[in-house]
Amino acid sequence: MTAQLQRADSRPDTRAEIVSHEPATGAEVWRGPVADVDETVARARRAWPSWAAQPLSTRMELLRRFANEVRKDAEALATCIAREVGKPLWEARAEVDSVIAKVEVSIRSYAERTAQRRLDSALQGAMAVRHKPHGVLVVLSPFNYPAHLANAHIVPALIAGNAVIFKPSERAPATGEMLTRCFHRAGVPAAAIQFAPGGPAEGAAYVAHEGIDGVLFTGSAANGIAINRRLAARPDRMVALEMGGNNAMVVWDTPKLTDAAAIVVQSAFATSGQRCTAARRLIVKDTMYDALMAEVKALADRLIVGAPFDEPAPFMGPVIDNAAADGLTESFLYLLSHGGRAIKHLVRTHETAPFLSPAIIDVTAMAERPDVELFGPILQVVRVSDFDQAIAQANASRYGLAASLVGGTPQEYNRFWANVRAGIVNWNRPTIGPSHAAPMGGVGLSGNHRPTGFYAADYCAYPVASGEMEQPRAVIGVGLR
Ligand code: NAD
Repeated sequence: MTAQLQRADSRPDTRAEIVSHEPATGAEVWRGPVADVDETVARARRAWPSWAAQPLSTRMELLRRFANEVRKDAEALATCIAREVGKPLWEARAEVDSVIAKVEVSIRSYAERTAQRRLDSALQGAMAVRHKPHGVLVVLSPFNYPAHLANAHIVPALIAGNAVIFKPSERAPATGEMLTRCFHRAGVPAAAIQFAPGGPAEGAAYVAHEGIDGVLFTGSAANGIAINRRLAARPDRMVALEMGGNNAMVVWDTPKLTDAAAIVVQSAFATSGQRCTAARRLIVKDTMYDALMAEVKALADRLIVGAPFDEPAPFMGPVIDNAAADGLTESFLYLLSHGGRAIKHLVRTHETAPFLSPAIIDVTAMAERPDVELFGPILQVVRVSDFDQAIAQANASRYGLAASLVGGTPQEYNRFWANVRAGIVNWNRPTIGPSHAAPMGGVGLSGNHRPTGFYAADYCAYPVASGEMEQPRAVIGVGLR
């Protein structure tokens, strides 16, 4: 019952054409040909030396202009995102804000993490550390944040001087095209950032292509592992993998039940659970269980599930497509038939469109819980009696993206922080909504130790150490006859 396998069935035929549809209505959003892989790579290879040779200040200025172009198009871009992936308009607008904010963050991050440094020494002259771009990088991005997550790789890669091939999710090409136009209107050369529609087959072809210097991937663990395996014999390639999670939230002693419930609900159900950092597993102290679950259920019962432009605004939209909704329904039934107890059933609220109600299921009694990422609005609950057990449960996953403790003492939070295995560890905060100003990545099946966010600069350039003196000056001090 892997969510990835179920989702794979939903892919459109990507041999010649990509077509995207509105999840909420089924209406066609975008149709266009798949980009030719060899031609796209050749164009990027020709372009990158001159892009890399631009002064850094020019590249930064062009990216600031890009932010302005996005600002001008903000409402149209948000509307496109909301239509194409089904998220509520208010949330799509927040995504566009993140796209704009990414530019200043990336400029700061480049300066802090990959700037030029000189280490002067009277005896050895000057030592310089400078960074060079890798060359041509392909960005393979997921559907759930079709603008922001692609952009989170593209902007730092361009600042560092790489040429970028952007292969958007096959389920969100319209958003990808609109985003790319903003770069071009800002004056970034067309061949330095190319929009390259395609599906998994084209993604795999870029990964295997001789003309690619690196792959910046955000998507499911299964596909990230396939990329890693394909490049296992190519240590010369930069591979940054941002993958999924089976994230845990532990709720411990807290008198603030209403707030705790709101944090749980936000973490589990925002974006219909289609966030890499969504809380999938809620681990609750025995003594708090009844009171907390009553609050969580009452709040989840009130969430409005609706189409992106509905009034009043929905909390969550549909999931990405019917195949995903079918897969999640099967997964919920699997949990139910293997010892799970439904606290709130998963309901398909619409006959033909993939609207799902938020679901909560207690899986404490399940003998074996599948450690898979269910990419939708399903929250699994486990009841425990002591704190060590809570940490052990949180760590009972091969993934390690985000974890939160809600409640508990500072000492308990210290223990949680020290022992829980994840790249994002929060206290009294949701698992979702990572800060732009911090690194963003996970361990285990969630990533390959190349976090994005503020640390994206690290994988977009490599350091070159240079000992430098204006004149040669040397003597051999020992060992001469
Ligand atoms: P996906 O893995 O299906 O696709 C991601 C991208 O990779 C797409 O562009 C796709 O065409 C391409 N692709 C698929 N198979 C490929 C292959 N074998 N070789 C090369 N490219 C390939 O992911 P999705 O369903 O679009 O997105 C949801 C997944 O992304 C979830 O698992 C989610 O947790 C993860 N995600 C992770 C982060 C993070 O920052 N860690 C953020 C958002 C989403």
